[in-house]
Amino acid sequence: MIKIVVAGPRGKMGYEAVQLCERDEELQLVAVVDSKHDGQTLQDLKGYGDLDTPIYSDMENCFSNHDVDVLVDLTTPAFGKKHMEIALAHGVRPVVGTTGFTNDDIEQLRKLTEEKELGAIIAPNFAIGAILMMKFSQLAARYLTDVEIIEQHHDNKLDAPSGTAMKTAQLIAQEREQKLQGHPDEKEDLPGARGADFEGMRIHSVRLPGRVAHQEVLFGGEGQLLSIKHDSLNRQSFMPGVKLSIEHVLKLDTLVYGLENLID
Ligand code: NAP
Repeated sequence: MIKIVVAGPRGKMGYEAVQLCERDEELQLVAVVDSKHDGQTLQDLKGYGDLDTPIYSDMENCFSNHDVDVLVDLTTPAFGKKHMEIALAHGVRPVVGTTGFTNDDIEQLRKLTEEKELGAIIAPNFAIGAILMMKFSQLAARYLTDVEIIEQHHDNKLDAPSGTAMKTAQLIAQEREQKLQGHPDEKEDLPGARGADFEGMRIHSVRLPGRVAHQEVLFGGEGQLLSIKHDSLNRQSFMPGVKLSIEHVLKLDTLVYGLENLID
């Protein structure tokens, strides 16, 4: 059994991660870390049935009281990095779905994992279909170099563009030279109309109630268009990727950023 702590269990992703641990015979949820309800158990909250999993608001305290293999962090950008540092200090391997890490954060965390010789995974998108969308887009960009990315999320998302859109743009940038897209003399009459600029690629972030996580990568060539699209229709779509990451992180001794590095 792999012993798991979930941080953010009352959140939409955290709730699904708790359910994953409950239905998967290889996973054992030993505790959760929540910003509220310290000292209570999950059964004291609505929607968790009779789960007697203890709740901690202090992660240090949680790791001091339990033998833990993997922390699954699904909280907010402000806490994700701190939670990873605490986990690594306690010899716990983090699997982090929380988005919003900067390149500097990732490099600092990579150094820390290597010092400790402990694996960690940060996955801006756990949906396997979304990883395939990124990989197919990277291949397409070798041949069709004019690209725009439209990502759509629910209106509670804190960061923009999404981690997936950034990662897609970075992968595409490995395949094509930076280039100016659109008309060389184009002007924005309304600032932001052309979206964010990543090495000439344009990224557009839509935030609307009712959306979950969606991305379309548009390629234009002479007389042809290619669209590569992925939709996560609910948060269960992310759970096979969470399970895959939990299994892989136990075999790693450094930080892996992005599930695309685990899928051939
Ligand atoms: P959410 O519903 O807002 O949940 C976040 C939860 O984290 C809330 O319950 C919040 O509690 C809790 N939290 C905040 N600070 C905490 C702390 N210090 N300790 C413990 N819990 C804390 O958000 P969500 O939709 O589940 O998303 C969570 C994160 O995953 C976000 O960063 C999101 O962008 C990311 N995400 C990743 C993927 C992926 O595939 N990797 C997919 C979807 C979302 P309070 O309400 O008390 O603050």
